[in-house]
Amino acid sequence: MMDRAISAEQPSASTPAGVATPLERTEPKPGARPVLICLSHLRWNFVHQRPQHLMTRFARDHDVWFVEEPTYEAESAVDGADAWLDVVEATPGVEVLVPRLRGGRDPDARIRALLDARLAARSVRDPVLWYYTPMALAFTDHLAASLVVYDCMDELSAFQAAPPELVRQERRLLERCDVVFTGGWSLYEAKKALHANVHAFPSSVDVEHFGQARTLRTEPADQRAIPQPRIGFFGVLDERFDAALIDALAASRPDWQIVLIGPTVKIDPATLPRRPNLHYLGAKPYAELPSYLAGWQVALVPFALNASTRFISPTKTPEYLAGGVPVVSTPIHDVVRLYGTSDVVRIAPDAAGFAEAIESFLAADRERLLGEMDALLAPMSWQRTFERMRARMRECARPHRDDAPAGAQPREPVASVRGARRKPAFDYLVVGAGFAGSVVAERLAEGAGRRVLVVDRRGHVGGNAYDGYDEAGILIHRYGPHIFHTNAPRIAEYLSRFTEWRPYEHRVLSRVGEKLLPMPINLTTLNELYGLSLDGRAAEAFLAARAERVDVVRSSEDVVVSTVGRELYETFFRGYTRKQWGVDPSRLDKSVTSRIPTRTNTDDRYFTDAFQMMPRHGYTRMFENMLDHPNIRVMLGTRYEDVRDEFDCGHVIYSGPIDEFFGFRYGPLPYRSLRFVHETLDCERLQPVAVVNYPSEDVAYTRITEYKHLTGQRHPRTSISYEYPTAEGDPFYPVPSAENEALYRRYRLLADATPGVDFVGRLGTYRYYNMDQVVGQALALYKRLQPVVAAA
Ligand code: FAD
Ligand code: UDP
Repeated sequence: MMDRAISAEQPSASTPAGVATPLERTEPKPGARPVLICLSHLRWNFVHQRPQHLMTRFARDHDVWFVEEPTYEAESAVDGADAWLDVVEATPGVEVLVPRLRGGRDPDARIRALLDARLAARSVRDPVLWYYTPMALAFTDHLAASLVVYDCMDELSAFQAAPPELVRQERRLLERCDVVFTGGWSLYEAKKALHANVHAFPSSVDVEHFGQARTLRTEPADQRAIPQPRIGFFGVLDERFDAALIDALAASRPDWQIVLIGPTVKIDPATLPRRPNLHYLGAKPYAELPSYLAGWQVALVPFALNASTRFISPTKTPEYLAGGVPVVSTPIHDVVRLYGTSDVVRIAPDAAGFAEAIESFLAADRERLLGEMDALLAPMSWQRTFERMRARMRECARPHRDDAPAGAQPREPVASVRGARRKPAFDYLVVGAGFAGSVVAERLAEGAGRRVLVVDRRGHVGGNAYDGYDEAGILIHRYGPHIFHTNAPRIAEYLSRFTEWRPYEHRVLSRVGEKLLPMPINLTTLNELYGLSLDGRAAEAFLAARAERVDVVRSSEDVVVSTVGRELYETFFRGYTRKQWGVDPSRLDKSVTSRIPTRTNTDDRYFTDAFQMMPRHGYTRMFENMLDHPNIRVMLGTRYEDVRDEFDCGHVIYSGPIDEFFGFRYGPLPYRSLRFVHETLDCERLQPVAVVNYPSEDVAYTRITEYKHLTGQRHPRTSISYEYPTAEGDPFYPVPSAENEALYRRYRLLADATPGVDFVGRLGTYRYYNMDQVVGQALALYKRLQPVVAAA
């Protein structure tokens, strides 16, 4: 809250507007706090959001000058100054500076003069410049700064009536700034190609503040008389607000009361729908929002899907959840990405979908939902976001210069990373952000307090386990189905620090002619394939009669024909394996088909491990939590070669292909790859299980995966993928054979003789490992590194 005006400041009356005032300089007081100048298009007193949460935290050890956009006075008042700053202490440590200009002439020059005068008068050197609006460059681009931050909250250029020059100014700001923070993941995707030091910091939530709604009993006077059930919204009513959806919802359920809180901006209030069950209560102070939320059963994010909402990450979603209120939202990209699989946020495209979702929440047991809300909110506090931003800023801040004059001075960016002037230092460089790299990085950072740089040449974390929402808003695995299973409690426990789980037991069917038969082969497979009604014992005898004698089981063919005989081998294994590996099973190591058991009972699970489950909100979220640590910096879209000489890193952990690391010195190790064809179908369900295998060589693909089975997501459509094995492409599968193992051994000897690098993971150690095995291997490597870590 802005409460106390301190002063109005102006440059010397004799100074022409727009010219920096050569005021006499005083030396900074010893122990003076550094200054952070925040340049904002949002006014401090408008709505309490990201700038206020962050700036009040920076104010603990900075003097924060929150510079708002100017206000214009009539030119006719001739007496008094031409331009001055209204300075108001908004909260301890934060001063709000509003440039007041008489007339509209040359505003940027006049604001520049005002700021220069203030900086000089206070002997401020090298402040931190923190931009919300690139337009402020016009009056700050001459300033010397210890650090320039662009905290990008919105795709500003997508807003209605955005000045055309915004895009140009943003490009300039991206050239000058040292670090870019984005308010959401979609914005991160949009900005990451434009600057080399971009970090996603989705808006957080003041959990304690909104948590009051869970216990508050007193109702605000203007809400008290509104009957129940109440469905609420708070936020700005602007072009993002889907008024038509709200109107249709209100019309369809006149017994529900819809409470709308917030200022109306940029749209004509007359265009808002009016109905007896629509209650516009106007803007409320941030402090009062929990008392309104306390009286709602369901909260809404009713945003239209248009250019101005493509990149938003609405903070209100977690704020509602902090208040214990479930949420219904339109499919805003970041809401779907963050909450799409949760039971406490339902996504619906239209009024009918909203009504159905609200109905189900009204019937739900609210207490039961609170646990999931808390789990979602746990990693999302503003304090945590603030600390992580500070860590990123420390990496690229330049030291204060003692000899520099205060105020105006052209500056160069400290680091656009690739062109960094100073080499940031890390203890470890981890190559690859898949399971192997992420686990080692997390352990080194959290377990040993080391500073770790993680690079991945892909544009995402998670390696082959990466998942994300497709265009239809369905969570899919980009690189084929990944099912987590392990017998090691230690590994399940370790990963549980970063994710909740949903129980899932994997079942696979194999298409044989018109039949869909359980795979691995079990009693049901035999009975349905041959039209028999064998019991377990008869099935054992049936298989024993067909199994071929093989003296030494060496190949993948040997494994199967010695267990189930040639006919079943040809039906279920030969074609699939030839397609998958590009060689006949007789030439493939026995370890490949040994992965698949044969059963004479009716257990149709693909795996029998003690722990079988899927990360509740997807793998990517789990990886993000793992890597979300002040000591870890992640650079995506970055190859090992790009950073090898750019940073001082004591030690390298390499989870890429080992042959590539050594420049293929002994020739390439063979890998098998896959081409994925992803599709979304206009039906709710395609197949009875997540994966159907196609062992016949009549079709080129090996399997079809339908992802909703794996993720549990509810959606009117369904997304699937076909897998086409290929020789070229990303290295997905090391090819187990004696010959390849011998070649790997040669690389291994090279690795052992190379100091300062450790190899890990499926590609780094050329092993056909499952995810849990890679986690186990990475934890073991960390353990081995500990003497080194302790000595460092
Ligand atoms: P990766 O996930 O491959 O990660 C290595 C990372 O290093 C990659 O992101 C790569 O971009 C990066 N990289 C490589 N070289 C460089 C470089 N020079 N510079 C920068 N970055 C580099 N396991 C299971 O447990 N259950 C399953 O159901 C399952 N299904 C699977 C299905 C498919 C189709 C595939 C291919 C694998 C499956 N797996 C499954 C195995 C699982 O994917 C792996 O065990 C695991 O992902 C390996 O992790 P990793 O970190 O070793 O390697
Ligand atoms: N396999 C097969 N038919 C099937 C399933 C598997 O021939 O219906 C063979 C094939 O060679 C495959 C191997 O068994 O590569 C291991 O299968 P798994 O499902 O473990 O493979 P992954 O999940 O690693 O792709």
